[in-house]
Amino acid sequence: MMKPVGVLALQGDFARHMDSLKRLRCPRKLIRWPEDLETCAGLILPGGESTTFVNLLGKTGLKKAICDFAEKSPVMGTCAGLIILAGEIVNDNMETLGLIDIRVERNAYGRQVDSFTDTVHVPMFEDKPVFEGVFIRAPRIHAYGGDVMSLGRHGQDVVMARNRRILVCTFHPELTSDTRVHRYFVEEMAGKTDS
Ligand code: GLN
Repeated sequence: MMKPVGVLALQGDFARHMDSLKRLRCPRKLIRWPEDLETCAGLILPGGESTTFVNLLGKTGLKKAICDFAEKSPVMGTCAGLIILAGEIVNDNMETLGLIDIRVERNAYGRQVDSFTDTVHVPMFEDKPVFEGVFIRAPRIHAYGGDVMSLGRHGQDVVMARNRRILVCTFHPELTSDTRVHRYFVEEMAGKTDS
């Protein structure tokens, strides 16, 4: 049996990620302290408020624990989770974990369209290469490094990407009943020890 996938449960919509993992019958575990990570095969950082996350990660000791964990194990971040993982935030000086070489703008879609749903193109989902993208005060990826692969686009924007062990989405796959993004993380990243 696979080790559980952890979901960071300090704040934000972690319960919806737990639901997505449940639908996949994937063992899962809420993460609140560094030692909770010990038995995990992977970790999900949910959406929420990235400045609050960064603050709580520092206070709980999880900042260092997650960086150590990511040296061997995969981590997925959605929306605020992506912001926390990014190498650079163009419009904020918060201290991110810097685990994926992406340059990100927070709240990039402005007030009028701060939340919307639109089709995201994900070519690797070969049978049906589209996904319902739920964007909520979403960040935008402005640039990405050579070890980062684009996996999904919304118009010209890369909205889903990965490097060796980090998977990020600017949208919220956990807010749909479509579990394919979580399945990809569980099967292709957390389920493979050398990912
Ligand atoms: N706007 C939030 C931030 O910058 C992210 C929003 C979300 O996670 N839905 O932290």
